[in-house]
Amino acid sequence: MEKFEFAIEDLTTYSCAHCFEENDVVVDLSEGLHQEFVEDCWVCCHPNVVHIDIDVDAKRAVAYAENA
Ligand SMILES: [Zn+2]
Repeated sequence: MEKFEFAIEDLTTYSCAHCFEENDVVVDLSEGLHQEFVEDCWVCCHPNVVHIDIDVDAKRAVAYAENA
């Protein structure tokens, strides 16, 4: 498990690729600096391919979604 020497905000949001509603996502920081997984939108229930990049300099996680 990768350890960070500082706290990174592990809650971020992405806009659904289908309905553009914001989805909250909790980032598992132990999964690495770039993560990709499929998650259903909580509003429209369509699947999104969610990409998460950990921005080490900004100490935050950035997420975006693609049409699955
Ligand atoms: Zn949606």
